[in-house]
Amino acid sequence: MKKIQMVDLKGQYEGIKNEVNDSIAEILDSSAFINGPHVHAFQKELEEYLDVKHVIPCANGTDALQICMMGLGLQPGDEVITADFTFAATVEVIALLNLTPVLVDVEPDTFNIDIKAVEKAITPKTKAIVPVHLFGQCANMDALMDLAKKHDLYVIEDNAQAIGATYTSANGKKQKAGTIGHVASTSFFPSKNLGCYGDGGAIFTNDDDLAHIIRGMVNHGMYERYYHDVVGVNSRLDSIQAAVLRAKLPKLDMYNQKRWEAASKYSKAFEGQEHIVVPRIVCACGESQNSCDCHVFHQYTLRILNGKRDGLVQYLNSNSVPCGVYYPVPLHKQKAYADARYNEADFPVTNRLVEEVISLPMHTELDDEQIQFITSLVIDFVNQ
Ligand SMILES: *Cc1c(COP(=O)(O)O)cnc(C)c1O
Repeated sequence: MKKIQMVDLKGQYEGIKNEVNDSIAEILDSSAFINGPHVHAFQKELEEYLDVKHVIPCANGTDALQICMMGLGLQPGDEVITADFTFAATVEVIALLNLTPVLVDVEPDTFNIDIKAVEKAITPKTKAIVPVHLFGQCANMDALMDLAKKHDLYVIEDNAQAIGATYTSANGKKQKAGTIGHVASTSFFPSKNLGCYGDGGAIFTNDDDLAHIIRGMVNHGMYERYYHDVVGVNSRLDSIQAAVLRAKLPKLDMYNQKRWEAASKYSKAFEGQEHIVVPRIVCACGESQNSCDCHVFHQYTLRILNGKRDGLVQYLNSNSVPCGVYYPVPLHKQKAYADARYNEADFPVTNRLVEEVISLPMHTELDDEQIQFITSLVIDFVNQ
C-alpha cells in the first residue's frame, strides 16, 4: 500500500508536470514575474468557470478577506457576524480593521453558520455577515441573503474551502460558491481544492463599482500610476502561481469528483456505526447521486460521539495514518479573540464539535486499499 498522506500534492503534480514545468520555464525566460500574461489569463478563466463578472487575484486568502471588508467601506466599530467554528483568518481580519467581531454558533450537521444565531446577533451596528463555506459545502445562502436584504447587510462569502461547489437555491437557481453574496474571498494555499505552489488568493464579485474599488485597493490604492486615492495594500498573485492555477483549473471538477468519490466510500464504510456521525451533504441533486458538486470535500470530517476522538487521533497516527482536528478551539475561546461579550450558553454546538471532530485524509489520489485500511482502523478503535 502507498504511504497515506493527509494531502497528496506530489501525486497530483505528476498529472500536470509537463504543463506546469513548461509554463514556469517560459516565465523564467520572459521575466514577467508580476502581473504577467498568466495572471490576466487566469483571472479571465476563473471568471468564466465561476460565471462571475469580476475575479481580482491577490496574495492569499486572508488578504482577500481583509480587502473585501476594506472595499465595502466597513468602519471601526461596525459589527461583523461570523462563525465561531472556523479557521481564525476570518475573525483576524475583522479585528485588524478595528471592526467588531460577533461570533455565533454553527449547525451540528453541516458545521456551517447557524441562521437563527445570526438573526439573534443582528444589532443596529451590524454591517456584514461572513459565512464560511466550511469543509467544502455552502452555508444556507438563501436564508442568509434574505436576512441580509431585510437588515440591509453585506454578505461576504469566505470561499477558501469550497471552490467549485455549486449552491442550489430553493427556486432551483444554481450558482457557484462565492458568487452569491455581495463579494467573496478565496485562498489558493497549496492544500486547498484549487491550490498553487506558494501563496495565492482572489476576490470575486458581480458588482462593477466594488470591483473597481478593490482593483485599486490591492495595488496601493492606485487607480492611476503613482496617484493614491485610497489607502490600499500590496497584495498580488505572481505569474508562477497563476501558471500553476491555470494548469489545475481545467481539472478542478475532476479533482472535486475524486474527493466526492473518496468521501462516499468513507461514508459507506461507516454506515450503521452508532458512535460515528458522517458529514451531512445538503444535496439538491437527490440523495442517490453517484456524483454531484453540492459538496467538494475540502475536508472529510467525522464526529466521534463516545469520547474517543483524542484516542483515535493517536491510534491513527501510530498506524501511520495522518488526520487532523479542524478545529480544536472555538474562536471565542482563543486568547486573541476571547471577550466578555461572549456567553458560553450561546455556543453549545461549537463547544461540542471541538471535542468530537476528526478529519480523515482527503485528496485526489486516495485509492480503495487506503480507504479500506483507514476505515477499518477507525471502526476498530471506536468500538473497542
Ligand atoms: C485557508 C483559509 C483562509 C486563509 O487563506 P490563506 O491563503 O492561508 O491566507 C481563510 N479562511 C478559511 C476558511 C480558510 O480555510
